[in-house]
Amino acid sequence: MKILQNRIIQDGVAVSTEILKVDSFLNHQVDVTLFDLIGAEFRTRFDDVAGKVDKILTIEASGIAVAAFTAKYFSSVPVVFAKKDKPSTMTEGYYFAEVMSFTKRTMSAIRIDNRFLKKGDRCLIIDDFLAHGQAALGLVQIAAEAGAEILGAGIVIEKEWQGGGDRLREKGVRVESLAVVTKIEDGEIYFKG
Ligand code: 5GP
Repeated sequence: MKILQNRIIQDGVAVSTEILKVDSFLNHQVDVTLFDLIGAEFRTRFDDVAGKVDKILTIEASGIAVAAFTAKYFSSVPVVFAKKDKPSTMTEGYYFAEVMSFTKRTMSAIRIDNRFLKKGDRCLIIDDFLAHGQAALGLVQIAAEAGAEILGAGIVIEKEWQGGGDRLREKGVRVESLAVVTKIEDGEIYFKG
């Protein structure tokens, strides 16, 4: 997605060879015009399964806005986001998976209340970044536990060398990434395509 790639070049900051900062349009301040285009692009990429999508799954916090804009292009299906902290209101009946946060270097459990994910639900995963794949694999694990089906994973920015894409594909998950970064070197961001 050229417009996204150009925006990353224009506003993205290479924090290190491993981390890309895009908080001026994706992770802190949100560019709603760009998010709408991102939603439309995910619809194009997953057009063949669009009629089957029952739910969009993501993880708080940055995934929520992307998923919500994407849902508009999939008949406004519900967006269900996994929670990273256990709220006191989530007393029973939830699925959870252990996830290692690469940016924060901590382990945490992600949870989805079992009222919002049912056996047979056909789900699209949408997230802002795909790095080592932990977050997305956590959602895949939760979906499997619930008996839900994953139709694919739509990712805004994939950092290819960190291997998350391959790990998801090994699990049989179709991955569509709108911008694929191949490396970050000397402050420069390199893309596939
Ligand atoms: P993974 O679980 O695939 O290793 O990492 C995915 C999650 O970590 C994303 O949901 C995102 O929140 C965060 N993340 C991973 N790499 C980056 C990065 O380079 N920049 C930012 N802003 N977040 C990242």
